[in-house]
Amino acid sequence: MPQKVQLNLTPADASDEQTVRRKAAHLSGTPVNDIKSIRILKRSIDSRTKNIRVNLEIEILTERDRDGSLLNPFKSQNVSGCREVIIVGAGPAGLFAALRLIELGLRPVILERGKEISRRKRDIAMISRAQVIDPDSNYCFGEGGAGTFSDGKLYTRSRKRGDNSRVLELLCLHGANRNILYEAHPHLGTDKLPAIITRIKSSIVEAGGILLFDKKVTDLIINNELVTGVVTADNERFRSPFVLLATGHSAHDIYETCMRRKIELEMKAFAAGVRVEHPQELIDRIQYHGNPRGNYLPAASYNLVRQSRGRGIYSFCMCPGGFIVPAATAQEEVVVNGMSPSERNSSYANSGIVVEIRLEDLEKYSAYGELAGLAFQKEMEHDAWIHGGRTQRAPAQRLADFVSGKSSSSLPKVSYTPGVTSSPLHEWLPETIAGRLMDGFSMFGRIMKGFLSNEAVILGVESRTSSPVRIPRNPETMEHVRISGLYPCGEGSGYSGGIVSSAVDGVKAAEAIALKKDSV
Ligand SMILES: Cc1cc2nc3c(=O)[nH]c(=O)nc-3n(C[C@H](O)[C@H](O)[C@H](O)COP(=O)(O)OP(=O)(O)OC[C@H]3O[C@@H](n4cnc5c(N)ncnc54)[C@H](O)[C@@H]3O)c2cc1C
Repeated sequence: MPQKVQLNLTPADASDEQTVRRKAAHLSGTPVNDIKSIRILKRSIDSRTKNIRVNLEIEILTERDRDGSLLNPFKSQNVSGCREVIIVGAGPAGLFAALRLIELGLRPVILERGKEISRRKRDIAMISRAQVIDPDSNYCFGEGGAGTFSDGKLYTRSRKRGDNSRVLELLCLHGANRNILYEAHPHLGTDKLPAIITRIKSSIVEAGGILLFDKKVTDLIINNELVTGVVTADNERFRSPFVLLATGHSAHDIYETCMRRKIELEMKAFAAGVRVEHPQELIDRIQYHGNPRGNYLPAASYNLVRQSRGRGIYSFCMCPGGFIVPAATAQEEVVVNGMSPSERNSSYANSGIVVEIRLEDLEKYSAYGELAGLAFQKEMEHDAWIHGGRTQRAPAQRLADFVSGKSSSSLPKVSYTPGVTSSPLHEWLPETIAGRLMDGFSMFGRIMKGFLSNEAVILGVESRTSSPVRIPRNPETMEHVRISGLYPCGEGSGYSGGIVSSAVDGVKAAEAIALKKDSV
């Protein structure tokens, strides 16, 4: 049995393999020369005090031990002639569902409204260059979904480690760095994701799966509470008794289709606010207690939570060394989000700072029924578009000005390439958000001395943290509560959020379909 030891080292020692090996040998009582290899099982940084340390859990392998580092392979097989399952959406939920269906002997047919990565990159460039959003090809829509140009943080609040580990393993099998298997806060980086997604597509297609782009699903074919297929915008019909709906939380039209088809939906709580950006060097100074980051520490991050007037206010999707990006999916809306490259080496640190929105905050939108949360989001995003100057420029305000209710006469440089327009966000953000954000930032400034500064700037709006709608499903079968054969999954279903949990949800939906297939 391989031995395990816990090490607590300086950042410099932790980054030197020979030192780690020597210390692990000493602690375990194993002669250094008997060690065949060492494997990091967990790595985390403890920066609570000025004396910053790195915690490592190390597995020591000698000649006698079986190497547990081997990844379980992707069990590919030719599914060309097998029973077909329609998957709507090629985001993490749809792609990981497809991989699992192949392992289980079913043929995925993925219909994706957007374009493949190379063409999608051009549309994304046009957002900054020409201030134009293509409603089918942008930061959220296209090959790999919102995951492709995301930050690629892979931690999740879901505690089901077995399921999460399989998704991480599949990412490694498709080219991800193996450190995601042991880092406490695994991160891929936006520069690495497109190649990984492309390899996943190849695995699906090589096994006989189908992936069609520019195929926007506009309707579901339903007979007597059974789904039998879908219709696309070019009026093509695809038939199958299994439809996995993995359209993400930005596909408002799919929720509208469900409303039109009287498919039950539920409202759910969500969160919205702004994105704040600081110089990374300022966040490093605060988090590393004035120590220089040096060569061995990563760009520092933070995780903040407080309550104000009965609502949670918290940091969301913090991106050290990153960029703020335009994540709108339609003209006449401005939505911001964040990402960073694998090296986290930009000079900016950004994070969403959001306020919980509960159902009682949505009374004004009750005419929209179950889509009240979407109406709230849309209004906020449209307001941001107006206050940004009716382009993709984002409305922005210096942070200390926002908290003291003052307009900013100038703005610092920001990472957001479409540009920013000075705007008094404290005046026009929804009432339920503005005051609480002011309280929240004041409290965060007390926790992290220097955080509440006019060197920092807020950009509006961070409105798509999670879906404001749930497509209710049977927890056992994963099918919609009434429509048989319809499997809502991933972030758009309201049952997951983020890359890993959406991928896990896709895998589970695939397994549920495989269980049911023999009875249909
Ligand atoms: C800039 C940015 C940074 C992010 N950073 C992180 C991060 O660091 N960590 C993290 O965990 N999460 C992050 N996220 C969120 C993460 O990307 C999503 O949670 C995840 O992609 C959800 O997966 P999904 O498959 O459920 O949906 P999506 O990824 O949204 O995929 C849905 C797919 O369905 C397609 N589609 C929609 N409607 C239709 C239709 N009618 N017909 C056909 N196809 C359709 C879309 O084009 C899209 O490709 C980030 C998101 C963004 C935008």
